[in-house]
Amino acid sequence: MPEKIYIFDTTLRDGEQTPGASLNVDEKLQIARNLELLNVDVIEAGFPFSSRGDFEAVKAVAREIRGCQVAGLARAFEKDIDAAWEAIKEATQPRIHTFISTSDIHLKYQMKKTREEVLEMAVAAVKHAARYTANVEFSAMDASRSDLDYVAKVFTAVIDAGAKTLNFPDTVGYGIPEEFGAKIKYLVEHIPNIHQAIISVHCHNDLGLAVANTLAAIANGARQVEVTINGIGERAGNASMEEVVMALATRKDLFDYYTDIVTQYIFPTSRLVSKLTGVVVQPNKAIVGANAFAHESGIHQDAVLKEASTFEIMTPTAVGIKKSSLPLGKLSGRHAFKKKLQEMGYYLGDEELNRVFFRFKDLADRKKTVFDEDLVSLVETEVIYKSVPEHFKLLDLVVLTGTMVKPNATVKMEVGGEIKSISVFGDGPIDATYKAITHLAQSKCKLLKFAVSSITGGTEAMGEVSVRLEDESQIVTGQGVDPDVVTASARAYINGLNRLKFSKEMGPKLGKPEEL
Ligand code: MN
Repeated sequence: MPEKIYIFDTTLRDGEQTPGASLNVDEKLQIARNLELLNVDVIEAGFPFSSRGDFEAVKAVAREIRGCQVAGLARAFEKDIDAAWEAIKEATQPRIHTFISTSDIHLKYQMKKTREEVLEMAVAAVKHAARYTANVEFSAMDASRSDLDYVAKVFTAVIDAGAKTLNFPDTVGYGIPEEFGAKIKYLVEHIPNIHQAIISVHCHNDLGLAVANTLAAIANGARQVEVTINGIGERAGNASMEEVVMALATRKDLFDYYTDIVTQYIFPTSRLVSKLTGVVVQPNKAIVGANAFAHESGIHQDAVLKEASTFEIMTPTAVGIKKSSLPLGKLSGRHAFKKKLQEMGYYLGDEELNRVFFRFKDLADRKKTVFDEDLVSLVETEVIYKSVPEHFKLLDLVVLTGTMVKPNATVKMEVGGEIKSISVFGDGPIDATYKAITHLAQSKCKLLKFAVSSITGGTEAMGEVSVRLEDESQIVTGQGVDPDVVTASARAYINGLNRLKFSKEMGPKLGKPEEL
């Protein structure tokens, strides 16, 4: 009988520690809903003690998500554990995840404590957490660089104190698969009460080995893996959920394990996480990159057309990359359009469908071929991203540019119901447009990042623009899509301004949470 591997998703906690990727309450909820569709076992929703905003986000996830366990992270302090419990207690299956460092290097330089003191703190923390719930996870930070016998001693003691999951993190991404797997085996063999708990691993990708180390750990007895969508996370990131899950699913001949992940939601979730965090997926990224299923060589293409398994070890549809058979043109009606979107996995309400259909007709008038990717992008920008009210609305944009003129943009916008317009010069067409919008919106926000990409090849491709805006302590991303990159840029900026206006207050972070 194959054994189950528990998927502990930390996209909303470690993933959010990706530089510049902070998420607000609504964004965390959107991702959590997708994680529930993916059917992960545990969602680590955040670190409640670290900030008011994180506390609120974890609470919102715990309230809404019914199908997964919801974990809150806490240092081995009572006040952290109390805050974590307060945030997660409404979950169907709340989990307190407490941690302390066990490596001599951390004990000496970071904590200035002895091994005995840390052992006592770990036991006290787990006992305190266990008063709230039987579902307690304990992590030994920097475990892979800790003395293994000391980790075994701490794990033995915290199991007695009530921990049900023991996490062995490769916090700094130092492990090598064979060695890392051997450490897990050693723990299984040297912890007398290990049958009362399950071993988890949390691998970082500093040497590009996070997934390999995770698989080695599974082969040696780990039954929970801590992973993130797209492998995002602190520094070089965490083990990628899609890679671990698909490795287990594709090599069933080698691994006698299974996960409960509904793999068809992998790709849509990857897109959502990338959009909301503003962290782009590299094209050659395994499983979810734009080229992951693209065959360039003629020999390969020919063979794949004859029989896909010649060069494809898994199918794009297995991970939710959908190609549909219905071509759409500018004469396509609303019914065909709706059917097409459903084929692609989007079931929209009437109002949403009308909005996307309107944009589609406009697009079909201006662009020869409307690709599936264009539709995905339209749905994402019109539905997923338009989840905020439009206080600012672009009505009209006229841009004059070229080698002989100073770029000029005339923008007409609705601001809180009032129609305003202005004409402004800039260094380039996008600069002029942004200056005009900034003036009309009376915004003081700072543009942290501006990125343009084309969805499909060719000059008629749709331009996708992603911006990051900062206003006082709040950071949001905005998205825009249009065949015209200047218009897409304007849409992205205005989308960001609306998000800044309506996103719930995150409040300032207390400082970066320590890393596991
Ligand atoms: Mn980590």
